[in-house]
Amino acid sequence: MSGRSSSPRSTECGFRTGWGEPVRVAANLLLRHAREVITCSGKLPTRAAKGDFDPAPLGLIEDGAVAIADDRIVAVGRTAEVERSVSLSSGATVIDVGDAMLTPGLVDAHTHSLFVGSRAGEFSLRVQGAGYAEIAAKGGGIAASVKALRGATDEALRAALARRLDAMARFGTTTVEVKSGYALETAQELRSLKLARSMGDRVVPTFLGLHAVPPELRGTEDGRARYLATVAGRMLDAVVAGGDARFIDAYVDGPGFSVAECAPALERAKALGLRARLHVGQFEDVGGAQLAASLGAASADHLEHVSDEGLRAMAAAGVTAVLLPGAAFSLGQPMPDARRMRALGVAVALATDCNPGTSHCDALPWMAAFGVRQMGLSTVEAWFAITATAAGCLDLGDRGRLAVGARADVAVLDLPGWEALPYVLGSPRALATVTGGALRRWE
Ligand SMILES: [Zn+2]
Repeated sequence: MSGRSSSPRSTECGFRTGWGEPVRVAANLLLRHAREVITCSGKLPTRAAKGDFDPAPLGLIEDGAVAIADDRIVAVGRTAEVERSVSLSSGATVIDVGDAMLTPGLVDAHTHSLFVGSRAGEFSLRVQGAGYAEIAAKGGGIAASVKALRGATDEALRAALARRLDAMARFGTTTVEVKSGYALETAQELRSLKLARSMGDRVVPTFLGLHAVPPELRGTEDGRARYLATVAGRMLDAVVAGGDARFIDAYVDGPGFSVAECAPALERAKALGLRARLHVGQFEDVGGAQLAASLGAASADHLEHVSDEGLRAMAAAGVTAVLLPGAAFSLGQPMPDARRMRALGVAVALATDCNPGTSHCDALPWMAAFGVRQMGLSTVEAWFAITATAAGCLDLGDRGRLAVGARADVAVLDLPGWEALPYVLGSPRALATVTGGALRRWE
């Protein structure tokens, strides 16, 4: 990959110079001569089908280019066509991508990446065979992250999140959903959401008050009921008034909360304009998929344990499955069955679940490799799962694809072609990313 700042071309280029000659559109960043461009401009079949291995939906372009003006894509196509259609502004940046690929900036639709502190000790206990209760008794689990987050300064939290977003960008990720839920107290949940929002449009903040009962209320007679009432009442009111959260989440699972416990907060949130994305069936199927469907949720995530009935309800309601192989891998669980979900017509996204307990992972492409090698996805489906489908379930229709008018989020990935996504062990590195028009390079 090589680059330069160009001097302006002749100014006539920006104007119609004769009959039949197109008007050129202005651009200030041109990524060109990429061996291959993935646009995700096609439509993935709704259900798994024989055509799942057909790369047509990827909208591949050889010797491709993407032109950008500020924060928008203004041209995508073969380099020669794009160069004919744009007029580079004074000082525009031109990069010859060469052997790397251009793809939509990757979208990580499920993370808990606003955290401080390590839980490596807890992980070590787990690999020695310790169970959930033993780890909790030794001060591990979500309670450990709650204690660390509550004691951290704003600056420390912001720096930790910024470092993590940078690490994710090194793998091509330009949009990251970030959940609260390590505060479990109104003022600190608001602080978490505000800090996430302060990272700008590359972060989508989600309110996860119903992550766990806060440590100080556990073991008290009515602590659990009081916390549920607080979340559904004044905590939710404060979150909506604060305006930083884009979604609400809840941990609908055996070790988490029941459908009956979560429903009041989620239904109220829906009435107040906050759409749900839910943790469902990581350990136990307690009916979370049906709850997600009845709420018209954006996504139901995890789904290691889910019935066909639950999946059919999700398909009918258009709820995306966000699968988190990093957590299943770390916990030694069977992988969620993406093939079965696709066969039942459920859209599938893949995310890192980046968190300090069960998936300390920044590398979204690696999740795609799990998706293909262990979860039954085709490589075409896996590309969509970390781009367009992931963006769709975050209600971000202008991301996850390379198209004229889309937000200028692009990854320059060090891969020899689209088929190599699950083939390269480890994760491919991004040589550069463009996020909302802002270029970063790591050569
Ligand atoms: Zn999670």
